[in-house]
Amino acid sequence: SLSIEGLRLSYGQMEVLRGIDLSVPKGSVTCIIGPSGSGKSTLLRSLNRLVEMNAGSVLLDGVDIATMKPEKLRSKVGMVFQHFNLFPDHTARDNIMLSLTKIKGMRRGKARAIADARLADVGLQGRGDHRPANLSGGQQQRVAIARALAMDPEVVLFDEVTSALDPELVKGVLDLMADLGRRGMTMVVVTHEMGFARQVADQIVFMDEGKIVESGTPEQMFTAPRTDRLKKFFAEVL
Ligand code: ATP
Ligand code: MG
Repeated sequence: SLSIEGLRLSYGQMEVLRGIDLSVPKGSVTCIIGPSGSGKSTLLRSLNRLVEMNAGSVLLDGVDIATMKPEKLRSKVGMVFQHFNLFPDHTARDNIMLSLTKIKGMRRGKARAIADARLADVGLQGRGDHRPANLSGGQQQRVAIARALAMDPEVVLFDEVTSALDPELVKGVLDLMADLGRRGMTMVVVTHEMGFARQVADQIVFMDEGKIVESGTPEQMFTAPRTDRLKKFFAEVL
């Protein structure tokens, strides 16, 4: 589980996260929604210390992430990005193996076996030798998801992972993520896909201007939004 308390973060003079309290139970899917610039990506990035917070704490299974070595934290908290962030000069298999050998110090033989197993899990068996340029956007995103899963993380963070995909490739990736959720993966998902949030999330968090304005179950949020800000947001995106 993740437990976030009083998280504040500024870029220069501008406070982008203004006191975030959130708990993400083990095995649950939390979807974060909200307008552009509300701090969603910054929140995710602070959870594996790609950016450093100015105040507050994040506990991962009870351990303060500020005390964890970066390699340890990154192996426990996986992250998948909008633009995949694959190494273009490496094959799909090597992209996954690199994380295992460099961050976990795993031997190549074992890393290779895990890479191929995770590629098969995301429907890419037989594609291990392809470079990113020779895969579709949806397939590249599956490689990125397989890479995160290969680390055997406690939590996986997804930042608008379908936003850069051609429309016909979106559903396959969302279905894969829904399946991960059903299998008990703890996930924090920033998304503009309201259908996904409604169907898959255990809890939805609505952010605006660096704060959590409202949170609850999909049922509560979609059928009875409490704040005018969330009503207005739904009016714009639904
Ligand atoms: P979007 O839906 O457009 O992805 P977001 O909710 O993910 O938006 P963030 O990317 O977290 O928003 O940005 C929150 C605020 O912080 C914005 O005002 C943004 O301009 C600012 N910001 C983000 N990254 C940086 C940075 N590296 N340096 C300075 N300001 C930043
Ligand atoms: Mg963002």
